[in-house]
Amino acid sequence: MLVTLRPEANRAAVERELVAHGLWVTRLEGSSRPALWVEPQSAQLAREDLLAIDGVESVAAPASAHPRIDAQPACVPFGPIRLGTGAPAVLIAGPCSVESPEQIRRIAERVAGLGVQLLRGGAFKPRTSPYAFQGHGEAALGWLRDAATAHALGVVTEVMSPADARLVASYADVLQIGSRNMQNFALLRAVAAEGRPILLKRGMSASVEEWLLAGEYCLHHGAPNVVFCERGIRGFDPSTRNLLDLGAVALLAHVHHQPVIVDPSHALGRRDLIPALSRAAIAAGAAGLMLETHDDPGSALSDGPQALTGPMLADLVREVAGHEEAP
Ligand code: PEP
Ligand code: MN
Repeated sequence: MLVTLRPEANRAAVERELVAHGLWVTRLEGSSRPALWVEPQSAQLAREDLLAIDGVESVAAPASAHPRIDAQPACVPFGPIRLGTGAPAVLIAGPCSVESPEQIRRIAERVAGLGVQLLRGGAFKPRTSPYAFQGHGEAALGWLRDAATAHALGVVTEVMSPADARLVASYADVLQIGSRNMQNFALLRAVAAEGRPILLKRGMSASVEEWLLAGEYCLHHGAPNVVFCERGIRGFDPSTRNLLDLGAVALLAHVHHQPVIVDPSHALGRRDLIPALSRAAIAAGAAGLMLETHDDPGSALSDGPQALTGPMLADLVREVAGHEEAP
């Protein structure tokens, strides 16, 4: 935001007041009128409050690059439920990959009994190695849908290709865009055109602004709403699989007022730390969690080390979301 001062204003005093409000301020030298640049994301202060500061003449805010996202409510329909500020914490759980009809049926029954609302599971898997399990494709979509429907759960699953968007939308309530595809704009367009809510995972090297703009693509091309999912970004330290950016979660929740959830499974890559970071995510402003779980993590076809066992997931759900097990 450009804050222009009256010619007689005491620029140092105005600057001090802005800083006292928590704003990041830069002096603009060389302009015809004394002026300051204020980073809009640095604190929440209404334009009127800035104008009320003694010495401030005008405040100009550049037009937002993501007006549709800015106008999105903080609580949105998300498959069978609502997700965001004011709604109970949403839990999405399931295996990394849908491996067989029996596997997903057992997991659906187990997670439904805990009060989880949506079942996850990959049918089309974005694997770093071409030799790793790639998913069972359309067959897995059917197994996932049937298992979810049998237990009144919604379905969240990833779309990897524009050519599959229609197919996946015929099985899923929420369409997931994976981290590796956050800026695959052809995919965003095709998925958005299906008219389903989108779960938009943050690209592992994406800035918050790029993430918001990817959300803007989704709304611009027809998605009714977008829920953002922080899943860890690339850090310099491989001690955990990724670096869970809870600052970005707080920024989305409390400054941008967006529906945002956290996937601690892919952020950490190890099951033992997931409960601690799940609590932290909720405290930071996450409106829900996406958790990977498996009945026998040692035999999982993908991401076994980060899969919560049944008892671990049950403890976590009880603790974090205060859900009671269904009778
Ligand atoms: C997933 O959720 O199955 C997945 C592949 O996650 P990400 O895109 O965050 O790596
Ligand atoms: Mn996974």
